[in-house]
Amino acid sequence: MSRYLFSLFILLLPFASIGQNSNDSAEKETYVILISLDGFRYDYVERFHPENLSRFIQKGTAAEGLIPSFPSKTFPNHYTIATGMLPEHHGLVDNSFYNPQKDQTYAISNREVVTDGSWYGGTPIWVLAEQNGMKAASYFFVGSEADIQGIRPSYYYDYDGTVSNLTRISKVFEWLQLPKPDRPRMITLYFSDMDDVGHGYGPGNEEKLSKTLTQLDHELGALFEGLKSLDLDVNVIIVSDHGMADVPKNQLINLDQLTEGIDARVVNSGALAHVYLKDQNSKEEAIRIIGSSGENFKVVDVQEGEYYRDLSQHADLMGDLLILPDLGYYLADQRGLFRYQNRSAMNKTDVFGEHGYSPDYEEMQGIFYANGPQIKAGLTIPPFKNVHIYTLICEILGLPIPKDIDGKKEVLAPILTKD
Ligand code: AMP
Ligand code: ZN
Ligand code: ZN
Repeated sequence: MSRYLFSLFILLLPFASIGQNSNDSAEKETYVILISLDGFRYDYVERFHPENLSRFIQKGTAAEGLIPSFPSKTFPNHYTIATGMLPEHHGLVDNSFYNPQKDQTYAISNREVVTDGSWYGGTPIWVLAEQNGMKAASYFFVGSEADIQGIRPSYYYDYDGTVSNLTRISKVFEWLQLPKPDRPRMITLYFSDMDDVGHGYGPGNEEKLSKTLTQLDHELGALFEGLKSLDLDVNVIIVSDHGMADVPKNQLINLDQLTEGIDARVVNSGALAHVYLKDQNSKEEAIRIIGSSGENFKVVDVQEGEYYRDLSQHADLMGDLLILPDLGYYLADQRGLFRYQNRSAMNKTDVFGEHGYSPDYEEMQGIFYANGPQIKAGLTIPPFKNVHIYTLICEILGLPIPKDIDGKKEVLAPILTKD
């Protein structure tokens, strides 16, 4: 028995016999565990052949890639997966952005805004479940700590990246072995390992990536193994929010220099920066000044609708202009450049990894792997947009699909066994 399985069984010991003989009703209820492996690029499995994940894929359905929504950042995409809505509709338009009406900046490190439900539109899948009398639980997922429509999952935790993966996994078994009225049928899990290593060394670093993935794969193996011992119809959906691209140290762009002399608020997300002009009449001039102040990026008018396609609901959050570095280039202010210097010295690397670029780049594609009684086995499907995952979960759990979402249930209907 591997060290990981052993530690999991130790963690599970107090619950060992409960799930075996559930005298539940004849009609078995379905369960969904939605697992996000942050920053897991579409090609990692074929490059590194993780044992447990590969077996999971063989016996389930795999997409060749999962196309993120713009921008390919963590918060907008997790929340798109959770709501079935594009960022321009659910309102989390980036990891960081300014809200002129609130006169407040959303930032993922700011707990006050992250837990404030008023920033989050749509109906996340856990809210939909709770509204329909189903318990939901989350060991982390973007939005799960916020009171969205006044509702949080019945069980949830405030984000703490230091909690070990096995602790998160063992809690899932605890939840699944609760008495039926208390037992969640919609569970989310989140692991940041692949994003962390990808940022630190770039997705091209075989050695570092392979080591991290091997460990994560053992932990996932413990989860898969444990689920087999429960007599429950559990469907596991493994996704990522985006991929990753190499960014060499000498391809960092000094953002302060680009925006010098522009009368605007600038909110930087690295692969894009939002420019909120003080004076709308200065737009043409700002485009000219920024555009001529460097190279390897472009500056675009948000109103042209090329990146955020629908401006009818949240255009005020996106800003007037976007500064978009080419793939492999990244925007950093003076402090950011200093941070990268330190990271370079600490990690002994001249290459980092970043994401946030246009979803049209293959490098930004993530993963979708699903396995369970309601999922077809041995199926591979072409890359699809992450906005459609929500409807799949609704279909598995028998939840009504809200009318105002962007996802279409027809896209993933062919992977369901009842199809
Ligand atoms: P990114 O900057 O897009 O790479 O964001 C990834 C980081 O988001 C991860 O390393 C986590 O530390 C952080 N993160 C993920 N989920 C949450 C959350 N619910 N609350 C706060 N931070 C989070
Ligand atoms: Zn991410
Ligand atoms: Zn990241």
